[in-house]
Amino acid sequence: MGYKISQVISYLSELAPPSYQESYDNATLITGDPSWELSGVLFSLDCLEDVVAEAVTLGANMIVAHHPIVFKGLKSLTGKNYVERTIIKAIKNDIAIYAIHTNLDHVANGVNKRISDRLGLISTSILKPKKNILNKLVYFVPTPDKDQTIRAVFDAGAGQIGDYSDCSFQQEGIGSFTPSQQANPSIGMKGSPESVQETRVEVILPAFKQNKILEALRKSHPYEEVAYYLQPLENENQEVGAGMIGHLPVPLKEEDFLDFLKVKMNLKILKHTPLLGKKISKVALCGGAGIFLLNDAKAKGADIFITADIKYHEFFDADRKIILCDIGHYESEIYTKDLLKEHLSQKFPNIALYLTKVVTNPTSYR
Ligand SMILES: [Zn+2]
Repeated sequence: MGYKISQVISYLSELAPPSYQESYDNATLITGDPSWELSGVLFSLDCLEDVVAEAVTLGANMIVAHHPIVFKGLKSLTGKNYVERTIIKAIKNDIAIYAIHTNLDHVANGVNKRISDRLGLISTSILKPKKNILNKLVYFVPTPDKDQTIRAVFDAGAGQIGDYSDCSFQQEGIGSFTPSQQANPSIGMKGSPESVQETRVEVILPAFKQNKILEALRKSHPYEEVAYYLQPLENENQEVGAGMIGHLPVPLKEEDFLDFLKVKMNLKILKHTPLLGKKISKVALCGGAGIFLLNDAKAKGADIFITADIKYHEFFDADRKIILCDIGHYESEIYTKDLLKEHLSQKFPNIALYLTKVVTNPTSYR
């Protein structure tokens, strides 16, 4: 039995939920139809015309790219620039283009983990965890029925705190209600006040899973009307956010670390601020344009911050407190396609998966 494009999309949405993308982003299905039968997937950092041509040659009707080819609304589609030509080519050839961008930057197992792994960093964590993406659910359930509801909301994605799953708080009490004449109560009688031994259950949940979790609660709960309330939390989600920080297993001299970085990331060149004469132990990094994280890297005591697209004046902000290092945008994110291929090959072992051979880097060095 074959797969549909929609099955790949739903798997990738679990890996990197689209709701974790930045507001300017366009991480979504850009061309194609989710109901198409899948014939193969081609992975690329950028989706350009040559990449679409490669997919056609390979017979793969889905391209999964890190950078969205379309960011803004297109008012016409005439082929006057590379974006329009890429889209036209994809549509003419029935190629689905799916972008998985800042949502993949923001998950603990995404772009930045891949860079951390290449550098052998240990004890890694998100450099700037995201706030305001967690909710609290409180609900009330007859005590004999509490376990089935708790299991159901856990299975739907509630109760995860860092490395701990199935987290809840439970408190016994008395619930009271009077069913109306229109009600169909599972406990008590119409028009008659009732008191029931109930448990108050509190769980934390990712906001984007809220509807699924509420549905699981309703299905597993014996009452016709489930009493619950939801609250947004300001807490950071330690598993979601920008950049990553970790330790080298053995501290290295600055010069040695920069040489090591060039080898591990396959760099022809890197740019850095003045060396500070101390060993590199704590490394902060962010694939792509990550200079907005410089203060977080400093605050967390990183010896070096590795990112890309740093402007001349931004280098001064290192201010001899940290080494700032630009390794190039393409170079910092090129291994993202390998990361995606590995994830998909575990889930879809029988599908043809390809890494692009097109070098999409728009810059070169001499
Ligand atoms: Zn990028």
